[in-house]
Amino acid sequence: NRELVMIPGPTPVTEPIRKQLGRETAAFKDPNFVEDFKEVISDLTKLWNSSEVFVVSGSGTLAMEMAIANTLKETDSVLVISHGFFGDRMVDLCKRKGLDVDVLSSKWGKAISVEEIKEKLAKKKYKAVAVTHVDTSTGVKASLDQLGEVLDKHPETLFIVDGVCSTAGEPEFMYEMGIDVLITASQKAFGVPPGLAMVWVSEKAMSRREEIGDICEYYLDFDRWLPVMKNPDKYFGTPPVNLIWALKEAVQIIKNEGLLERFKRHQIRGRAVQKALEGLGFEILAEENVRASTLSNPLYPEGIEDGEFRKVLKEEGVVVAGGLGPYAGKLFRLGHMGNIDTNELVTVISAIERTLFRLDYPVEFGKGINILLENIMKKE
Ligand code: PMP
Repeated sequence: NRELVMIPGPTPVTEPIRKQLGRETAAFKDPNFVEDFKEVISDLTKLWNSSEVFVVSGSGTLAMEMAIANTLKETDSVLVISHGFFGDRMVDLCKRKGLDVDVLSSKWGKAISVEEIKEKLAKKKYKAVAVTHVDTSTGVKASLDQLGEVLDKHPETLFIVDGVCSTAGEPEFMYEMGIDVLITASQKAFGVPPGLAMVWVSEKAMSRREEIGDICEYYLDFDRWLPVMKNPDKYFGTPPVNLIWALKEAVQIIKNEGLLERFKRHQIRGRAVQKALEGLGFEILAEENVRASTLSNPLYPEGIEDGEFRKVLKEEGVVVAGGLGPYAGKLFRLGHMGNIDTNELVTVISAIERTLFRLDYPVEFGKGINILLENIMKKE
């Protein structure tokens, strides 16, 4: 039986994208590949309205490190707003770099208020503020709009956004929100297999890179990659040819759908899934006003054991991820981002209903599906 992998990344990879991976690998100087790479870079820059974009082999963590390495030097002060495990990872990474790190950490499931951030910024000058747009561990979404507005009054401070669990699924407008560095990876809302790190950079952040001068990081250095991104005919590190083709296909899908439509689709379906889960007896960890559209973190009702639930759900054909940190064993993480359709969501909710039934939890078959579809199939 085919399993539907609904973890928060890697997300399901659709056939047209998957086909690109099976193509005969071309030389990276092959003129057709160079043209394809050029087109991807140009599309990504235009779609997210950045000055530059860097597309390199690596996972999201590499993209996080690339953002920090190129915009901050030892002893620079940075404020990290943490809404969970991946915000904490950003703190770790900044500490390793020898930065002067201040942290605002929320209780898991809640978000830091804009007032707390304003207060911090009034007391100290920061070279950068970093935030995870959607923290995958909690499903909390930061308000980039509000943060951008606050940072507008602090032109010396760069705005760094970890979009690993949001980019191409949640609204992120570099220019309008004043984002200076936006990072993501291929395996989440782009619906491409893992392996590509993407870093969008504003003009202001590129100037910061120049100010900093030489940095000790080699592979991560914008300066080494910039000539390649300007002209992919140049070599610095071997590009992952087939993954770039897969990304090109994913970008084409995004262009066909339209970014705004794509954000709206994620929002409507995300809410519908969350309402269906609530209807079945789960409570969502993230508070409603700060809840992400890209994934859900439902807490198990009394009497449901994590290991058993995920094992039976897998037998019913759906794979989800466990909780992280303090919520390990208490919730599961369900991704619903990228190129997934209504059929897949119906399958997921139905499999959850069957799992609850098999675990002797009171369930009314069809109740979750009803809620799901009533929320998705609204007429304009
Ligand atoms: N940031 C966020 C918000 C993430 O969800 C993840 C991965 N789950 C990462 C960073 C790290 O990405 P990767 O696992 O690709 O290194």
